[in-house]
Amino acid sequence: MKYWIPCELHTHTTHSDGRQSLMELAEKAKKEEIRCIALTDHNTISGNSDKYNVMKQTGVHIISGLEWTTFYGHMVILGVKRYEDWRNIEIDNIDASIEKIHDHGAIVGIAHPFRIGSPLCTGCYWEYKVKDWNNIDYIEVMSSDVLKDKSSNMRTLDFWTDLLNQGFRPTAVYGRDWHSGGNAEKNVAVTYLGIDTLNGDFDSAVLNAIANGAAVVTSGPLLLMECKLKNVNKIYTIGETIQLEKSDGCIDIDVSIDFTVRKDQWRLGENMTLSIVSNKGEIARVPVDVNRPNFSFDVLHTGIKWIRAELYGFIDEQQLLIALTNPIYFKM
Ligand SMILES: [Zn+2]
Ligand SMILES: [Zn+2]
Repeated sequence: MKYWIPCELHTHTTHSDGRQSLMELAEKAKKEEIRCIALTDHNTISGNSDKYNVMKQTGVHIISGLEWTTFYGHMVILGVKRYEDWRNIEIDNIDASIEKIHDHGAIVGIAHPFRIGSPLCTGCYWEYKVKDWNNIDYIEVMSSDVLKDKSSNMRTLDFWTDLLNQGFRPTAVYGRDWHSGGNAEKNVAVTYLGIDTLNGDFDSAVLNAIANGAAVVTSGPLLLMECKLKNVNKIYTIGETIQLEKSDGCIDIDVSIDFTVRKDQWRLGENMTLSIVSNKGEIARVPVDVNRPNFSFDVLHTGIKWIRAELYGFIDEQQLLIALTNPIYFKM
């Protein structure tokens, strides 16, 4: 059993170009029922000096991070224990730097890869030539304002899907790139992370959840998915891999949508659609009745390498992807 906790993984304070102190940021997060934030100021970790005091006073957990802000792209690093220097990287050697970061126990993610770059936002567009995509722990598949940034987010979704189809498993997360204000000023999402315990080492639990794909992105309800092989009792959850004994057979897919979580923080239109997507395309599409939010599908797993759930709905009468699970993977 996992505890699904709402997190915001990309934030800024006055230690870089944010217009909020760490205390103000954590207080706003608390008001928005966010349990954990990652502090990712541009090229600095100086904001961490107040971290333990802020965590104690607000109860919001803070993960130490930073955002490498360079001409060729922005890369977020979470779980930093020391300053990670960005000044030696070139457009074609970022893998070596990432390996060093992993050696220090931190993880890396690509921030807003398709946001418009220079001159609007220098380096915001990702241009680094990644040699091995296994080095990338996560990608901000949704970022910033989910309505205004819909087209660049959809481009990232296609890009991520392509990586999944090639056999890579970067985890999809949301990054608000939170510089100021609250959720009334932006159409925001959160990332729910599935952690095994609420009592142990919280930093490790959060980093493991991201690294292992136990993550759900949503601008509304919590979308969860489980899979089970026919006649086998083991249940697999988001991010896990099902080892198949034979190439053809049936799986049960169970999807649930929890409309009670953080329900004061979001407002959606009435019509919603649930879609089950795999490397072979869409498997199922059904309308969602909020009073009956549990769904079961019987599917042939022949040729399937990954499956994820997507929830479509309306914000301000515009249709868009509201929620997205990371995949459950299949291996022969
Ligand atoms: Zn950035
Ligand atoms: Zn940022």
